[in-house]
Amino acid sequence: MPCPYTAMPSQFDGIRGICERSRPVREKCMLEIRLPERGGIQSPMAQIGKWLPENIAGEFYVDASCIDCDACRQIAPASFRDHGGQSSVYRQPHNPGELHRAFMALVACPTASIGTVSRRSARSGVAAFPVHVVDNVYFCGFTSEASFGAWSYLIVRPAEQGGNVLVDSPRFSNPLVKRIEEMGGVRLMLLSHRDDIADHVKFAAHFHCSRVMHEGDGAAARGIERVVTGTDILRIDGDLQLIPTPGHTRGHQVFLYRDKVLFTGDHLAWSPERETLTAFRDVCWHSWTEQTRSMEKLLVRRFEWVLPGHGRIGHGSAEEIHKHLENCIAQMKRE
Ligand code: SF4
Repeated sequence: MPCPYTAMPSQFDGIRGICERSRPVREKCMLEIRLPERGGIQSPMAQIGKWLPENIAGEFYVDASCIDCDACRQIAPASFRDHGGQSSVYRQPHNPGELHRAFMALVACPTASIGTVSRRSARSGVAAFPVHVVDNVYFCGFTSEASFGAWSYLIVRPAEQGGNVLVDSPRFSNPLVKRIEEMGGVRLMLLSHRDDIADHVKFAAHFHCSRVMHEGDGAAARGIERVVTGTDILRIDGDLQLIPTPGHTRGHQVFLYRDKVLFTGDHLAWSPERETLTAFRDVCWHSWTEQTRSMEKLLVRRFEWVLPGHGRIGHGSAEEIHKHLENCIAQMKRE
């Protein structure tokens, strides 16, 4: 299955390095960036002196601070590759479309590990986010190192339908916040689990929105407004259901939107290597048995899109996705 987000063949491993939170935060030079898209704030930049030797010569490069989160390879697969434990530029952008994608990758990178030799403006990449995925669902870009580059999503709805929903937390970056304000702000934050919450406190304070998180992941201690308990499926509103899926963590939960889009956190993702849906045993922090059981609960649900925090996006007909989910469960029982 081609990667539906990039509309290009999914040729890279999208799961390596997931949740490797033990890596030290690397030193970044803090420079005043006066580009309008950065809002004139102190922002980290890639350091050309730490250029990875695996980069091909040219304008774009990746420095040694890369944490191998996979975002650039998903967003701009024509330019970035996995050379083993980190990303590098294997082909410089050749046309305006590839250039735009490379700038989007630069902006999305959680560690500011992507740079341009001539320090070109990343304005087009900044302006691209939130970028449309399907219907009224957008990918926020601006991933955060605090969540190892987890992807977060924005559902844009009129107030009478419940208002906008932020699923997990992106980096609290001024250009993104301003853009979300223009798109109607945030009424509700849905937090899948403890690892992907990044700047949730700042977003909640700025947008005066309530947050939903499960008690099993310490929601009460984090000051979460709506603490979920138990394993029953909850209907949040007419469009949204919350499904507790303990396994990856004790309080993991996924969110089903309009029986079409499933926001899966770190529970379920597309594997380009296996060409089917997959779960990640090597980063299952709580219980693989419970995660398998949680996966089986999803068999009675209909959805066409799998939008994960880590790993690749999956898309197909509801029947195809159901088949892939069965494959995933069978594989989980063998592991
Ligand atoms: S987005 Fe940044 S941290 Fe993630 S793989 Fe690419 S260069 Fe590395």
